[in-house]
Amino acid sequence: MAGKLAINGGTPVRTRPFAPRETMGEAEKRAVNEVMDRGQLSMFFGSPGPQFNGGRTVRAFEDAWCERFGYRHAISVNSWTTGLAACVGAVGLGPGDEMICSPYTMSASASVAIQYGAVPVFADVDPVSFCLDPASVESRITPRTKAIMAVHIFGGTADMAGLRAVADRHNLRLIEDAAQAPGATYGGSSIGAQRDIGGFSLNYHKHIHTGEGGVIVTNDDDLALRARLIRNHGENIVEGFGVEDLTNMVGSNYRLTELQAAIGIVQLSKLDAIVERRRQLAARLIERTSPLAPLTPPATDPNGSHVYYVFAWRYDENVLGVPRAAFAAAVRAELPEPATSDDLAMGEAYVKPLYALPMYQRRIGLGSSGFPFNYHPDADLDYRWGICPTVERLWERETLLTALVRDPLEEADIDDLANAIEKVVENASELRPLAAA
Ligand SMILES: *Cc1c(COP(=O)(O)O)cnc(C)c1O
Repeated sequence: MAGKLAINGGTPVRTRPFAPRETMGEAEKRAVNEVMDRGQLSMFFGSPGPQFNGGRTVRAFEDAWCERFGYRHAISVNSWTTGLAACVGAVGLGPGDEMICSPYTMSASASVAIQYGAVPVFADVDPVSFCLDPASVESRITPRTKAIMAVHIFGGTADMAGLRAVADRHNLRLIEDAAQAPGATYGGSSIGAQRDIGGFSLNYHKHIHTGEGGVIVTNDDDLALRARLIRNHGENIVEGFGVEDLTNMVGSNYRLTELQAAIGIVQLSKLDAIVERRRQLAARLIERTSPLAPLTPPATDPNGSHVYYVFAWRYDENVLGVPRAAFAAAVRAELPEPATSDDLAMGEAYVKPLYALPMYQRRIGLGSSGFPFNYHPDADLDYRWGICPTVERLWERETLLTALVRDPLEEADIDDLANAIEKVVENASELRPLAAA
């Protein structure tokens, strides 16, 4: 006999698809066309002179970013992965250095260290914020530690007071990967440049986008200059800027185009409304799912704010006696088939802890001889399973997340999601129980 749950042949809560994200409007098209009419699609020059920092649209975009968030410098880049590399280069990481990073993030947050011949060392996260735990960070410091990479994951803020204190005590650089949290604040000021340098992604999946792109932010004049030099063939131009310290001044081409900057200016003007909508939807989802015993909705740091890149719960499999995978599959079955990742109603796990990637397990980074992992033969780099128990638990059993806290969805859509979750909780006896230990 068919059960009540859709996964067992019952009637689903909803089959009508969710409205797709509509990210580009008439204003973006007009802005792009203005650049097209000028025909100057990029105005960077990789040599000294007024165009070293790009054309007028790129510079207007950077000025707008500074004005909106209160940073002294905003430096646009062609992706946030290249932006992260410029940050790591600007703070001076090199062979032999260690950078402490969360393993619960996109791979580039950590791998940019390797691009400079340094190595990431992984610290555990706090189970409530999903972000680096300052005490775990401090326990991983060695004489070779040079920087901390703080990631504001899922749109919530890391414990910046705690991480700043660790960085201050040990004289470390503090870089922020704020790809998922544009518009978030900590202690009343915008994240990204809370101490040294950091920034944001503008890829399609982020709150606002330019297709691909990113923005580095800092209040430090020296770091800003070094990031600009790395963005645009630094080796060719250091003398023009009187730069004596050549550390990492071999540059690249990380330049954003005028077309993307034009889109970015319009997108930035939409950020507040996008964040506001996400907060309203998240508030509704918190209200609806807080009473459900197996789920703990995300919390906001009392000093920070949350912009809900995704909405992540912690799931306790022991409450219903149902494994997470079976619970999530049952919720998905109650809702329409996702057309794209924007419609993911109930995802599991997020990324596998980064140290499990083959690159760390086999210690093959640059070239094939083991560099940079073998640079200090006596450094005791540990990438074994077990080093970050909280992350491993979150990944294996606890994290559930939805991408549906997004525009143009409405509270009625969130209610359908909440109804689906509630239905699965109420009828959990239909699901395969946890294997007896
Ligand atoms: C998206 C993302 C990146 C990379 O940004 P790109 O612009 O895609 O290169 C880095 N870190 C985190 C946490 C991200 O979410």
